[in-house]
Amino acid sequence: MASLNLIEHPHRRLNPLTREWVLVSPHRTQRPWLGQVEKHTTEAQPAYEPGCYMCPGNTRAVGIRNPEYLTTLVFDNDYPALLPDTPAGSFDQKGLLVARGEPGLCRVACFSRRHDLTLARMSPAEIRLVVDLWTAQYQELGGLSSINYVQIFENRGVMTGASNPHPHCQIWANASLPNVPERELSSFESYSDEKQSCLLCDYLRLELSKNERVVCQNEGFAVVVPYWAVWPFETLLLSKRHLGTMHELASDERDLLAGILRNITTRYDNLFEAPFPYLRSATVRKFMVGYEMLGTPQRDITPESAAERLVSLTDVHYLHRSGSA
Ligand SMILES: [Zn+2]
Ligand SMILES: [Zn+2]
Repeated sequence: MASLNLIEHPHRRLNPLTREWVLVSPHRTQRPWLGQVEKHTTEAQPAYEPGCYMCPGNTRAVGIRNPEYLTTLVFDNDYPALLPDTPAGSFDQKGLLVARGEPGLCRVACFSRRHDLTLARMSPAEIRLVVDLWTAQYQELGGLSSINYVQIFENRGVMTGASNPHPHCQIWANASLPNVPERELSSFESYSDEKQSCLLCDYLRLELSKNERVVCQNEGFAVVVPYWAVWPFETLLLSKRHLGTMHELASDERDLLAGILRNITTRYDNLFEAPFPYLRSATVRKFMVGYEMLGTPQRDITPESAAERLVSLTDVHYLHRSGSA
């Protein structure tokens, strides 16, 4: 029998952060796709949308009017999943019916006053203001006595369930560590106990020396398709300097972070010449169902070929090329 070849043979890869496996099936990339195909949603958005609850000066459903902001805006989510005054009580019946009160809060942060922009189409100086906002929110919310974790995330695109095209992210802060960071933290601790070293710093050094999955980099950061990527074009942005929290970022590092965010989001949009929902192909939805929901996540194209495709793209946004709007 031939020896294992990761380009041809089905295999499993370990995510050392979550200690979960992903099934890679590279031999399946030739099979015809019979699943759901989405229509490209490339229709142009207006710079200002009177019905948008995030545009400057508009009144939100709860009756609050947004200020005429010029750069970024942050406000408490009008329909939050978490509430700050939640009592910290708990419920436990035979260790089988277990529940705990979860105090927290949810905010919305707009990246730009312009309804029609995305991070990829903003200037590095404009993205820097977004990085400053993330850092300030992380610090402010993380400083609250009831808060132990701050998650900043963007659901991009209608396909991922984002309800509004206005460029924005959400910030959820709560008392308990969510499942994934809790598992990652415990992996960091065991790795550091065993090797007296940082898991992600070691991983980044290895990726930079092999240069098989590095998509782009600058002096401060690198973007790789992780060896254990689950989503077809999943990437991981890593700091070259060992950092514990966001507010340890120096001023020049915030500029470098803005620059690399612009680079990778532009490559994503250029991949299918459509605003890219980060984790899927532009037209075909990937759902975690069946084997993936009940067993283990699975992917067809290898992380190496995904990285190769992202590297081959220009970092000039397709809408900014000559002849485009
Ligand atoms: Zn808007
Ligand atoms: Zn580190």
